[in-house]
Amino acid sequence: MISAIIDENTIERLRVLINGVQRIAITCHKSPDGDALGSSLALCHVLRRLGKQAVVVTPDMAPKSLEFIPGVRELVVLTKHEARARRELTDAQLIFCLDYNSLHRIDRLGEIIAPLATKLVLIDHHLDPDESVFDVAISVPEASSTCELVFRVLMQMGLLRLVDRHAASCLYVGMLTDTGGFAYSCDNPEFYEVLAALMRRRFDRIGLYNKALNTFSENSLRLQGYAINEKMQIFPEHGCALITLDQEELTRFKYCRGDTETLVNKPLAIPEVYWSVFLREDVDRIKVSCRSQGDFSVSDICTRYFHGGGHQNAAGGELTCTMEEAVALIHQVLDELGIATKD
Ligand code: 5GP
Ligand code: MN
Repeated sequence: MISAIIDENTIERLRVLINGVQRIAITCHKSPDGDALGSSLALCHVLRRLGKQAVVVTPDMAPKSLEFIPGVRELVVLTKHEARARRELTDAQLIFCLDYNSLHRIDRLGEIIAPLATKLVLIDHHLDPDESVFDVAISVPEASSTCELVFRVLMQMGLLRLVDRHAASCLYVGMLTDTGGFAYSCDNPEFYEVLAALMRRRFDRIGLYNKALNTFSENSLRLQGYAINEKMQIFPEHGCALITLDQEELTRFKYCRGDTETLVNKPLAIPEVYWSVFLREDVDRIKVSCRSQGDFSVSDICTRYFHGGGHQNAAGGELTCTMEEAVALIHQVLDELGIATKD
């Protein structure tokens, strides 16, 4: 049995809000990942089947590697369709905020949304949501993914009949990618009951699995091989691995967004490594990605040192400094954490 974990009053308020409007915009975080896109596109599809005029507006483009998610081509992307994105948000009578916990996570989209009087509905699984901003806040940090939460919201609203193969495909991708291929954040047995319910929609499970986790361009695969072979440093006394890639290296391998999406997970294959850091130099900042196993919280580390956050085993942040300074900061973090004891 999948329990009704969301407060019934919250579900009722959401039902009233949805019933009272026609135009709905759905937003997700910048550099959208499988969960952000999957949850937004699934909800959009279901709302359309309910007779609503729904649209997904994103701060920036989906990576090429996620273009297989059904509906991605219909995204209204702020950096590409500025006027249309603004219009969709200002004309919307209700705005959903999926897979982010604060308007800071949606870049300039936040500046457009903040002054609007439109009601905002949060559905998210990140820690510490900025609840004051949202009119309805469904925040469940224990949930595997926002996709799982969207399923639960639809279930409690009695709308599961509208979850067809298309919506199930989108939700599956988010549950798959946000758990690193069902590796972490999926200890709740009900996670698999949600999956089972989706499986009954008969989507192409193997095809989606391969596209989501096992498909890379030649450049991407060579870049990852280079990164692991030549750039991975192991600090066994700290149980830590570090990979850095600077602009010159990324250019050399014709880097496209998404090409290094799962790279940070790879060092966790080494038994001595239980947390992994990846620093990628963007034009104006260093993007930090962290993954861990077990009780070690990279979310705490990313909040404390990298102006970011996330989840216990998967988190990230940003630094506005040089790569040398970022690496020095990692060494400082290791010094401050001291010698690791695995438990
Ligand atoms: P990734 O390493 O795949 O970019 O992100 C892993 C997790 O950390 C995701 O859940 C993502 O939402 C969160 N995250 C990544 N970057 C940031 C950031 O700059 N700020 C915050 N607050 N969370 C982040
Ligand atoms: Mn997520």
